[in-house]
Amino acid sequence: MASVAVMDVIKTYGALEVLHGIDLAVRDGEFLVLVGPSGCGKSTLLRMIAGLEDITGGDIQIGSNIVTDLPPKDRDIAMVFQNYALYPHMRVRDNMAFALKLARRSRSEIEDAVNRAAGILDLSHLLDRYPRELSGGQRQRVAMGRAIVRDPAVFLFDEPLSNLDAKLRVAMRAEIKALHQRLKTTTIYVTHDQIEAMTMADRIVVMRDGVIEQVGTPLELYDRPANLFVASFIGSPA
Ligand code: ADP
Ligand code: MG
Repeated sequence: MASVAVMDVIKTYGALEVLHGIDLAVRDGEFLVLVGPSGCGKSTLLRMIAGLEDITGGDIQIGSNIVTDLPPKDRDIAMVFQNYALYPHMRVRDNMAFALKLARRSRSEIEDAVNRAAGILDLSHLLDRYPRELSGGQRQRVAMGRAIVRDPAVFLFDEPLSNLDAKLRVAMRAEIKALHQRLKTTTIYVTHDQIEAMTMADRIVVMRDGVIEQVGTPLELYDRPANLFVASFIGSPA
């Protein structure tokens, strides 16, 4: 587990500045939801925390380490994407083991980690299947399995449920929350869905156009929105 600090982070693409100096402190063990309209910079911010984008300005700290100049593999994070990004030619077991193999863990260590994650995610009976033989919800669980086998200090989720149908989305929300309650891993979860934010977050960060409009618990945002944008976005009567 670890806290995450985003300190005056700026990102530009060419002449376009898309993050205008973001400051954010994520607490150890917290489930933080980043919410905001499409294009406001949520994925960019998450990718900077992951180390998948060059940083234009500012610093990122994970635990006690400034990681600004470290590659993703040295940041003790695991990221789950919207499109799962499973390897189609690998069985579930090998999809989940892949990062551990790259990290040259021992075979028994890998087996233990995969079996443990499979147990947590109810995937034990699916370990020998290929991704094409799974439902959307099962694929999403494998994507989460690939993240938890690594036992990272921080989980980063980028709209992990947006490809699922509405009913499955509700079920998976509950699964992800249960997983968090069990593992207590610091989590930063990106969505553009207010309901998802309100039902899942310990605290919500509302973004608009590359700035943070407000940070607070779901109740605080609902009761005391900082401005009209937050009020209408969260859906409270303004
Ligand atoms: P969100 O995840 O909130 O929908 P993004 O972080 O994907 O938003 O994008 C924020 C802004 O940055 C958008 O205006 C988007 O067009 C722009 N952007 C994202 N990635 C790139 C890129 N690789 N090159 C140029 N502009 C980009
Ligand atoms: Mg995005």
